Amino acid sequence: MDRIKELKEQAASLSLYNTRDKLEELIHQAEQEEISYTSFLENIFHGEIKYRHDKAQAKRIKEAGFPYPKYLKDFDLSFCKSLTNRQFKQLSELTWIDGIYNLILSGPPGVGKTHLAIALGYHACEEGYKVSYSTMQALVQCLRTEEIDRRSRVKMNRIRKSNLCIIDEVGYLPISSTEGNLFFQLVSELQEQTAIVITTNKGFEEWTEFLNDAALATAILDRLSYRCDRIQMSGKSYRLENRKSFLREKGTEQNEIS
Ligand code: ADP
Ligand code: MG
Repeated sequence: MDRIKELKEQAASLSLYNTRDKLEELIHQAEQEEISYTSFLENIFHGEIKYRHDKAQAKRIKEAGFPYPKYLKDFDLSFCKSLTNRQFKQLSELTWIDGIYNLILSGPPGVGKTHLAIALGYHACEEGYKVSYSTMQALVQCLRTEEIDRRSRVKMNRIRKSNLCIIDEVGYLPISSTEGNLFFQLVSELQEQTAIVITTNKGFEEWTEFLNDAALATAILDRLSYRCDRIQMSGKSYRLENRKSFLREKGTEQNEIS
C-alpha cells in the first residue's frame, strides 16, 4: 500500500482527522520551508487542536437551535438607546453566565430583543458555553410532550444541561395553568445552574394576565428576578425605521426611462 495512504489510515484510526485530510499539505509545507522536526509536530498538533475546537464550536451552535444567526458586531448601539456602551461591553464579556445571572429584555416589537438575545447566545457558543434557544411557545410544547415525544425529551435535556437558556417571546400568547406550572418548575430547576435570557413584550405587572394566575406569576418572577438585570428596550422599531421595499418609487421609474 502507498505510504501516504497508509499514514492517512493510521491518522484516522487515531482520530487525527485534520492530519488525515491535510497530510500532503503538511508534508509539502515542511519540505518547502525546511522546518525542524519539532515545528513539524507542532504544526500537526496545532492543526488537530484547531480542528477539534472549530468542530465543537459548530456543534454547540447547531445544538443551540437558533432560528437564524445574529451577531453582536451587527448590533447598532447608536440605534438602541436603552443600552450604554459599557453595559453592552459587560454583556459581551459573558461573565454574567458564569455568575448565573438572568437577563430580561423587554419592550415593543422590532427594538432588537431577539437580535441581542441570539447574538449573546451565539457569542457564548463561540466561547465554549452550552446554549439553548427556544421560543416560549416551542418550550411549552416541549414541556407538555417530553414524556411521550423523544424530540421534546432531547430538547428538554439540552435545555437542562445548558449554561445559558434563551426563552424568546414570553408573553405573546397566553398559556394554560398546566403549562404555567410546568414553566415554573423549569425555572426552579434552572435556578442556580443556568443563566436565563428572556425576551418579552410584557411588563412584570402584565405577567399575571398571560399566565392567568397571580400567585404563579409572582413565584416565577421571584425566582427569575433574584439575580437578574432587566433592560427595558424602548424606542422605535428598527424594522420600521429601516424598512426595505422591493417596489420602485414612481419618481425613480421616470428617471430611469428619461
Ligand atoms: P424584537 O425581537 O425586539 O421584535 P428583533 O431583534 O427581531 O426585534 O429586530 C428586528 C430586526 O431589526 C432584526 O432584523 C434585527 O436584526 C434588527 N435590529 C433591531 N435592533 C437592531 C439594532 N440595534 N442594531 C441592528 N439591527 C437591529
Ligand atoms: Mg423578537
